[in-house]
Amino acid sequence: AKSAGRSTFRFFTEAMDQEMQARRSMEIDLQRALVLEQFSLAYQPQYQIDGKRLVGFEALLRWSTPARGPVSPAQFIPLAEDIGMIGSLGEWVLRKACKDAAQWPEPISVSVNLSPLQFKNQKLIDVIVSALASAGLPPHRLDIEITEGALMDDTDATVAILKQIKALGIKVSMDDFGTGYSSLSYLQKFPFDKIKIDQSFIRSLETNPDSAAIVRAVTALGESLGMMTIAEGVETESQLRQITHDGCKQVQGYLTGRPVPQHEATLLVEQMN
Ligand code: C2E
Ligand code: CA
Ligand code: CA
Ligand code: CA
Repeated sequence: AKSAGRSTFRFFTEAMDQEMQARRSMEIDLQRALVLEQFSLAYQPQYQIDGKRLVGFEALLRWSTPARGPVSPAQFIPLAEDIGMIGSLGEWVLRKACKDAAQWPEPISVSVNLSPLQFKNQKLIDVIVSALASAGLPPHRLDIEITEGALMDDTDATVAILKQIKALGIKVSMDDFGTGYSSLSYLQKFPFDKIKIDQSFIRSLETNPDSAAIVRAVTALGESLGMMTIAEGVETESQLRQITHDGCKQVQGYLTGRPVPQHEATLLVEQMN
């Protein structure tokens, strides 16, 4: 029994070794990915439900290497944060998204995800202002998406930065709403322009009656606080019907449009009228 335990342990540490090596190897690839121009942005359309009008796109980061193929952002973004690279990567995303959006007509907007770590950078505001200026994009067409994580550890400092961002005329959205512990309390601390109802609530709409109640409550809350609400991850007609019935104003999901490359996004814009 003792030797079996030992070999189980050896097996375990070998598996751990392998995992660490895989991680290390991905870090090395990630570190040179910017220079090798392996990043791109995909754009997922957001629609006003009433009238089916296109209102903007969310920019979603993509990384692909010849050896690995496409790597999920859920995998490489935490790694980029760990190795201190999210600042430069986030700046690349902002500049590219603003440049692409400047090709679209008024009032089509672009939503950019910011990592909580980007709020630790004193220069964040300068970077945003410079991205807008060099692209020639009016501030009201940029929308910054933040999750609860950004507000969690230094709430006052982050709120102060968000207020500066808003004062510039930029929009601010609360992403993944309802997944954290204190989503509600953050709504009181900062006047978000938009609440993005997390896709977990949409996915369970048909199976869990509580989800419909939550969508209804969040949209009513958004309405009374003057915040737009958008449902994420809408995949079926039945979900769309349900969120429409529950008062949600905008939709983003595979049903109305998957994330697409910039030239396809531009085609969607041109088809608009
Ligand atoms: P997110 O901000 O919540 O983005 C929405 C995610 O849901 C995207 O995954 C999108 O492709 C996916 N999605 C959209 N509609 C549907 C649907 O109908 N069904 C399903 N099942 N999924 C849908 P993606 O592109 O893999 O991104 C994952 C996460 O990575 C994002 O979640 C965001 O947190 C992060 N991320 C992506 N781009 C960036 C970026 O430029 N910067 C930072 N800091 N994070 C980013
Ligand atoms: Ca987002
Ligand atoms: Ca989200
Ligand atoms: Ca998410």
